Amino acid sequence: MSGCDQPGLLSLELAQQRLLALADSSPINDTEFVALAQADGRVLAAPLVAGLDLPPWDNSAMDGYALRLADWQGVALPVSQRILAGSAPQPLEPGTCARIFTGAPLPAGADTVEMQENVELDEQGRVRFLQGLRIGQNVRAQGQETRLGECVLPVGTRLGPIELGLAASLGVATLEVRRAVRVAVLSTGDELVEPGQPLADGQIYNSNRRLLIAWLQRLGCEVVDGGILPDDLQRTRDALAALGRVDLILSTGGVSVGEADFLGIVLREAGELAFWKLAIKPGKPLTCGHYQGVPVIGLPGNPASTLVTFGLLARPYLLRRMGVQRVEPLAFEMPAGFVWSKAGQRREYLRARIEQGRVVPYANQSSGVLRSAAWAEGLAEVLEGRTLAEGDRLRFIPLSELLG
Ligand code: AMP
Ligand code: MG
Repeated sequence: MSGCDQPGLLSLELAQQRLLALADSSPINDTEFVALAQADGRVLAAPLVAGLDLPPWDNSAMDGYALRLADWQGVALPVSQRILAGSAPQPLEPGTCARIFTGAPLPAGADTVEMQENVELDEQGRVRFLQGLRIGQNVRAQGQETRLGECVLPVGTRLGPIELGLAASLGVATLEVRRAVRVAVLSTGDELVEPGQPLADGQIYNSNRRLLIAWLQRLGCEVVDGGILPDDLQRTRDALAALGRVDLILSTGGVSVGEADFLGIVLREAGELAFWKLAIKPGKPLTCGHYQGVPVIGLPGNPASTLVTFGLLARPYLLRRMGVQRVEPLAFEMPAGFVWSKAGQRREYLRARIEQGRVVPYANQSSGVLRSAAWAEGLAEVLEGRTLAEGDRLRFIPLSELLG
């Protein structure tokens, strides 16, 4: 990775751009075929092309009666056949209509469907149409969604429930996707203990490991769990050497200035390390480098900082390495439901909720407080140098955008 220590603070945009440029320089190009059941969260490596028209034939959008409008003289029509979804109809007999149900194919010769609520049956069982008819009404035309040969999803599409449903609707059972990005997750710090273990004096439970592993899995990554790295040089060397083949090493903690930073020492020995001071809060310190050619991103250790930096920087980086083009989350301008009287030098990402249409931040915005994010529905962006009165607008990034 390029870059050396930055004088002053680095803007979020510049940091994002640098990371995306790095991602573009090492895309994951290997592909594999996976069944739809395994494809959630993966990224298309080949376009999804329709192998059939959708719908494959004209069909009824309603339960009702199908007829050929041009032949209809305004008289009651006898019913010549009954067409259920899943059946293959006979051509429509001239001078008749067909009983038809939602999703059933239109018989050849029919072009119009009237819903059953708008007809009456006379004593002979003939159908009287009570309202004016318009040609093509209540007909779902063949190919109205997709034509044979059309590209339905382009390369680089992230697959989720909707895309999988669409592929299934075209009869596609397997998709060519990019190989999953393999990410090693390392937590650093002698103070860390895993849940389920007793806490000694001075120790805390490791929250970032679970946070990041679950998040990476949601993003479709394959996680290599590197566990906890103690604050010890040799053991840090050994742990990195034992990682095996991964596409990214993602660490948390040990990136504050002035700290005995063992991960940093090892990266300088066996790779490269840039230390970025980001103009955001929380999440100022971030490291970026490589270990024997494997990219490394070091996130700050405080859990709310980990959350913000992963969501705003590591997530787009990872998506781009997977081949996704649009990596920025959707955000909305919302009115503030609070006052911000002291302009800050760094851009703040408040863990906040929407209440009565206004952004309300969690009371305690300490970077150590992960509960703020559990309470929150999104990150509210207070720009550097900005004060806010109630009702002033600010950007709100839903956490649901970042987490998926
Ligand atoms: P550091 O960057 O290592 O100085 O860590 C900054 C703060 O984050 C310290 O209070 C650490 O105890 C805390 N911290 C670091 N890693 C974790 C973790 N994995 N889980 C919870 N807290 C952490
Ligand atoms: Mg530490």
